[in-house]
Amino acid sequence: MPSLFTFTITEPELRALAGVAVETVQARLLLPNQKPLEQTGPLLITHWGLSGPAILKLSAWGARALHDCHYQATLQLNWLPDLSAEQLHQQLLAVKQTQPKRQLATHSPFDLSRRLWQYVLAKIGIVPEQRWADASKKQLTQLVQELHQGQYAIQGKGAFKEEFVTCGGVNLKEVDFKTMESRLCPRLYFAGEILDIDGVTGGFNFQSAWTTGWLAGQAIGKL
Ligand SMILES: Cc1cc2nc3c(=O)[nH]c(=O)nc-3n(C[C@H](O)[C@H](O)[C@H](O)COP(=O)(O)OP(=O)(O)OC[C@H]3O[C@@H](n4cnc5c(N)ncnc54)[C@H](O)[C@@H]3O)c2cc1C
Repeated sequence: MPSLFTFTITEPELRALAGVAVETVQARLLLPNQKPLEQTGPLLITHWGLSGPAILKLSAWGARALHDCHYQATLQLNWLPDLSAEQLHQQLLAVKQTQPKRQLATHSPFDLSRRLWQYVLAKIGIVPEQRWADASKKQLTQLVQELHQGQYAIQGKGAFKEEFVTCGGVNLKEVDFKTMESRLCPRLYFAGEILDIDGVTGGFNFQSAWTTGWLAGQAIGKL
């Protein structure tokens, strides 16, 4: 099954942010009957959903489970993982007190792109013209919740054949790793993708293909 792929999110308002990149996001993949998977790292919004290292790594750890649930799952995003929920709340209260006449849409207390900030406000129904003075307790609580634990419905994976690597393959217990020869079928050698090896991004799959190829080549050359 595929691994290292992007997530399809059909929400048009999110897709409209295509090109927005956030340096550090905490992404949690909520899967049925399984502990959530978590990754922190860069995230990129695309015209079909979400990509970037945090998403690709989550897709690798969740490759089998996502396949089993037909790539339908829930993603929880913390856009500001360096701040606790309490710190977020305090910063929102501070800006409400110090900048009451400013509009929420044009004055964010956080280091987020303006488009992303306005998207989060719209998601909880705050109109762009609203002033900080009028931000209710309920709205501030909703804002903290959305920034810290916003939920996004994954409705598929990126296009077929755009995945970087295959998860699954020949069982490693059936292979002699000194020579890459099959333990079940003598004189049959394996290397690369055909093995049940898949790494995250960073060159690990190339390394695995080259190393196992070299080992198999050396062993075959000695026959
Ligand atoms: C878009 C993309 C990006 C990637 N980026 C990275 C990365 O950044 N870092 C990383 O580590 N890995 C990356 N990978 C994964 C990496 O390319 C593979 O893990 C690696 O190339 C596997 O090597 P391989 O020799 O096992 O298989 P392949 O490179 O797939 O080679 C198999 C070869 O066999 C040939 N072939 C197939 N069937 C037959 C046949 N019947 N007869 C003859 N020839 C045949 C194919 O044409 C092909 O040339 C990426 C993969 C993709 C698709």
